[in-house]
Amino acid sequence: MYHHSGNAAQQAAGSAAGVLDAAVPDGEVILFQRCTWCGTAMYHRLLCPVCRGSDLRTERSGGTGTVRRSTVVHRNTPAARNVSLIEMAEGFVLRGRVMGPPVGIHSGDRVRLSTAKDPVRGEPVFQLVDEPYRAWT
Ligand SMILES: [Zn+2]
Repeated sequence: MYHHSGNAAQQAAGSAAGVLDAAVPDGEVILFQRCTWCGTAMYHRLLCPVCRGSDLRTERSGGTGTVRRSTVVHRNTPAARNVSLIEMAEGFVLRGRVMGPPVGIHSGDRVRLSTAKDPVRGEPVFQLVDEPYRAWT
């Protein structure tokens, strides 16, 4: 894989500090609420949608999810942008944007959090997990 085995060892040591694992750096996390009564995960709610309980605790999402629905929006923007509903691994759904060509994003695609808050729109931005050129190795 690496041409210089000595460097490979150094790179492995460096990545042990979390370069590979910390795909979601500090500050780039999505917090969600989980109902302490029925365990339902939800996003930006004050009441549990299932049991209407208000006893919610905040948890931190691992940042991975699956595209539920993807829509291309042309309104108020010079370039078409993609708005997707992402079902996170924890079970809640939120709205965000998936990077990449809008036509290349389909429901069922796996995504991971890239930026928790888009500096322009303040919405979470995701990237496709299965993009060929983003292979983990
Ligand atoms: Zn509940």
